[in-house]
Amino acid sequence: MLPESSSLWLLQLLRDIQLAQFYRPILEELNVTRPEHFDFVRPEDLDGIGMGRPAQRRLAEALKRHRSGVKSKNRVYKILGGFAPEQKETTPPSESPRLPEPDGGLKCLIPEAAMCRGKLLGSGCFGVVHRGLWTLPSGQSVPVAIKSLRVGPGGPVGTELGDFLREVSVMMNLDHPHVLHLHGLVLGQPLQMVMELAPLGSLHARLTASTPTPPLPVALLCLFLKQLAGAMAYLGAQGLVHRDLATRNLLLTTPRTIKVADFGLVRPLGGARGRYVMGGPRPIPYAWCAPESLRQGAFSSASDVWMFGVTLWEMFSRGEEPWAGVPPYLILHRLEKDRARLPRPPLCSRALYSLALRCWAPHPEDRPSFSYLEGLLQEAWPREGRCVRDVTEPGALRMEPGDPITIIEGSPNSTTWKGQNGRTFTVGNFPASAVTVADLGGSSAVRPVHRGPPAQGERCQGNIDRDREKEKPWDLPPARDQRRKAPLQRMKGISKSLESVLSLGPRPTAGGSSPPELRHARAVPRGPPDLPPRPPFTSSSSSQPSQPPRARPLCPKRETPHNHCIGASAASKATTPSGGILPDPEWQRKIIEVELSVHGVTHQECQAALRATGGDVVSAIRNLKVDQLFHLSSRSRADCWRILEHHQWDLSAASRYVLARS
Ligand code: AMP
Repeated sequence: MLPESSSLWLLQLLRDIQLAQFYRPILEELNVTRPEHFDFVRPEDLDGIGMGRPAQRRLAEALKRHRSGVKSKNRVYKILGGFAPEQKETTPPSESPRLPEPDGGLKCLIPEAAMCRGKLLGSGCFGVVHRGLWTLPSGQSVPVAIKSLRVGPGGPVGTELGDFLREVSVMMNLDHPHVLHLHGLVLGQPLQMVMELAPLGSLHARLTASTPTPPLPVALLCLFLKQLAGAMAYLGAQGLVHRDLATRNLLLTTPRTIKVADFGLVRPLGGARGRYVMGGPRPIPYAWCAPESLRQGAFSSASDVWMFGVTLWEMFSRGEEPWAGVPPYLILHRLEKDRARLPRPPLCSRALYSLALRCWAPHPEDRPSFSYLEGLLQEAWPREGRCVRDVTEPGALRMEPGDPITIIEGSPNSTTWKGQNGRTFTVGNFPASAVTVADLGGSSAVRPVHRGPPAQGERCQGNIDRDREKEKPWDLPPARDQRRKAPLQRMKGISKSLESVLSLGPRPTAGGSSPPELRHARAVPRGPPDLPPRPPFTSSSSSQPSQPPRARPLCPKRETPHNHCIGASAASKATTPSGGILPDPEWQRKIIEVELSVHGVTHQECQAALRATGGDVVSAIRNLKVDQLFHLSSRSRADCWRILEHHQWDLSAASRYVLARS
């Protein structure tokens, strides 16, 4: 464990008086993080953690010395605006506590003991996500989400470890109000990502929630789209492509705020063409993918825009599954050969649907950019009106005077409009005369999306909007009722490797044999373990095969208790070099010293490292740090040694360095 910088004084003080083994109990059980906290510690408390009275006297004297030495420093600290010891940190629980980092890298490495894991929130590609409480050095508890990397019997699976670490390295550099915030990383076993908690769960879960949860109003869906377009424009400006945009990956932090999450598939946009080409068979959410992604494994901001269109469709279809029941290979065929597109959901206005169709332009360069989409959304925004009389006509949307009405379709020339009653959330047609709108201004609610010239570098897609509107009825997926039941889990399973998408059926261009059964993404054969993965398509010569990160070697695993606090006190489990339970105080002291100096190592690992170095603490610490860095990156041990040396053996700084470059 790497001590938090704010409690380093304690470690130093205890080391000076040979009481380092009490560092953790004092920090964790007595919650002492500042010298002043000792004013409230009674001798019985110290008895309780096993500290004898002579040791307590030593501690009292050391504290006296320490206090007289730091007084002047505290005053300077106060003047500089830092936390004076008597002040309490006051990060509001709802706000993300941003720990200062001089070089703007990973927010922090968080000690495992500071993390208390609670209820399971969900499970994803890498492992499980739990709700948790993070205890800051100040004693304040912050609700968080903890994503733990799944660990198999032989350690984490190579690609999953790589994606997990990539997600960390991407997230640690992001800062946007609609992008989920990463607090830090716990270098334990398993590796854990500590993220901002989205207490209201995923947007998909909210969209598909059954009664009595009211449906999300159309106006709120539009607000979410605007937030999403803003976040995606930000990601694009960072040179990143998300590749897994879907309502399941949008999390609700408040009833009116979504945040983009799940950066496991994020990749940098490389090269002059601003796109990323997959280097191997990997699961992808094929029903959300643009044709070029399905065909060539090519991803770009324009393919994210395509996914934005599908996400819009999901939102207005109340979380239905796109292309439900259509085999993966047929989706590409439908998109390319039949020029089929997802049908307009009843809640979706023509203006918004027309925007979605632009996102689904066959050629990536014809799709609008996210920043342009923000403007288009503004144009397609539904107007708000208010009911002025009782509407009880048969077949009409019921409304009472004063009801707020969101107008989905409402041309000034038409006598019948379509809208949503903000009181009942029901959608239907109603007489236009029953509603007053703040500003009709001669412009209809359905404004043409093709207004003015497109932004630079953006071509419109010709007549596709009108063509698509005329092509109805669409090539519809199976019955609505059937699809409504699709659970989220099923959607998780529809990620499929690109290789499998095309190998499952006749290649759309060449035709061929009839499709075999669908396989699940996780069952996609990756070939013998020693062979490198095959690229998805023989034609993708520009692919950038990423070096698969190594799996962690077999090492004694720490027990991971479920649903209770993790981070058991290792100090109480010291064993001798031979492994027996024999309290050799010198050996114990060394183990603890090593354990306190290396973030995320287990007690057993410290013992093994000390045995390997004949009890040399400094060498054991260095070897373990090299090990930690080695497992965190795709670099050689020699490289890791050099990087650590360069960073004065500061594992935290070295980790930030390699993560920022992974
Ligand atoms: P992921 O591995 O990112 O796909 O996450 C799996 C599931 O865990 C998601 O579908 C969410 O329901 C839940 N989840 C992930 N991150 C968070 C978070 N920060 N707050 C709340 N729930 C989350």
